[in-house]
Amino acid sequence: MSTVPISVLIVDDQELVRTGFRMVISSQSDMIVVAEAADGRQAIAEAARVRPDVVLMDIRMPGIDGIEATRAVRAANARIKVVILTTFDADEYVYEALAAGASGFLLKDGPADELYRAIRVAHAGES
Ligand SMILES: [Mg+2]
Repeated sequence: MSTVPISVLIVDDQELVRTGFRMVISSQSDMIVVAEAADGRQAIAEAARVRPDVVLMDIRMPGIDGIEATRAVRAANARIKVVILTTFDADEYVYEALAAGASGFLLKDGPADELYRAIRVAHAGES
């Protein structure tokens, strides 16, 4: 395991969702939350500012949505990996998200172990 923790940017328009992910991720010694964003515009700005290893990206957000933000983040820096946060009713976006450069998907109501795994796999993957 790397001694440098995987840096994570959390993007979701719901504050409690961001707080929950931050708490869960903070329990792991090999990953660290470096920033949060509440919409796509903030996500693009924060990704450029902190250059995280992995972005956890909500899809449905006001203004610039997660698909468009994924495309912008990856275009600006292909080293940054994006894991899309999905709900069961958002499956229609899966193809679009992959085309936009997402590395993987994560169900928002899934177990913490799947979150850790998704972050580690995205980080280890190729650009
Ligand atoms: Mg949302």
